[in-house]
Amino acid sequence: MTRKIAAGNWKMNGLRASVEEARAIASGADGCTVVICPPATLLVPMSALGVALGGQYCHASTSGAHTGDISAPMLADAGATWCITGHSERRADHGESDADVRAQTEAAWSVGLTAILCLGETLAQREAGETLDVLRSQMDGSLPSGATPDNTVIAYEPVWAIGTGKVATPDQVAEVHDALRARVGPGFSLLYGGSVKAGNAADLFALDNVDGALVGGASLAAADFLPIVKAL
Ligand code: PGA
Repeated sequence: MTRKIAAGNWKMNGLRASVEEARAIASGADGCTVVICPPATLLVPMSALGVALGGQYCHASTSGAHTGDISAPMLADAGATWCITGHSERRADHGESDADVRAQTEAAWSVGLTAILCLGETLAQREAGETLDVLRSQMDGSLPSGATPDNTVIAYEPVWAIGTGKVATPDQVAEVHDALRARVGPGFSLLYGGSVKAGNAADLFALDNVDGALVGGASLAAADFLPIVKAL
């Protein structure tokens, strides 16, 4: 049995007042694994809410001269038990390569964080018919060989669907998730991400190899996120 997971990626959103929103999410999480990945400043204030917390990124090193960065031990120390790695915004905005993502994923594991490893094609790659090749190459480059269903969750996030309101169709998601399942085998939770909302979540979750979602915009408010959690 794969774990059913609803993960919220708050990105660079949220001030201390948002802790109340996380409290409301935590109280409605019944039964499902709900993970909130807030900005790092909110990990400690959210650490007593009874909801699993994740970082949005971690550096490959444990400490050192890396101004503005954050390490996996810092995330764990602040209360995180999960960490997103390889998000397309990090890959694009910070030039993170597959090799970087692989090292970050191993750094996350080294302190017991479960990695949510993100993969996904751009619109140009999809239109060129390269989607499965791109994902195969991202898996080859960024998924460390020590990945297990306990330490890693894979999130398929087509770049063109993130924050755009353009969710991938169930057929598109099924094609990719079936290929990912064939690659990693049973047990690994496979999440879809990209404009997941209450209105489209149930159709996505009905697919055989979709075990949950990584949700951005619709995870910021309990009123939007909890219906997605319920659809799981
Ligand atoms: P979105 O973001 O739900 O706002 O499209 C998803 C993500 O980037 O993880």
